[in-house]
Amino acid sequence: MTEFESNLGERFAEFVLPDGCVLCGGAVSVRATPAGAHSYCARCHWLSKPRMRVKENGVELSFGATATA
Ligand SMILES: [Zn+2]
Repeated sequence: MTEFESNLGERFAEFVLPDGCVLCGGAVSVRATPAGAHSYCARCHWLSKPRMRVKENGVELSFGATATA
């Protein structure tokens, strides 16, 4: 499992992790919703549903090992 932390203040609904892809190291676009978070890598087309925890100064994403739906 790989974890990322981002200091995003109040705006954590949609953002990019510049090297967040655990498969290719590419930029991962993350969209957070009340139901959960979705991430997508434009380079290798990796889709994932990271676990998201809201922290005091941002969010913490935990990517599991499962890459397929
Ligand atoms: Zn990737």
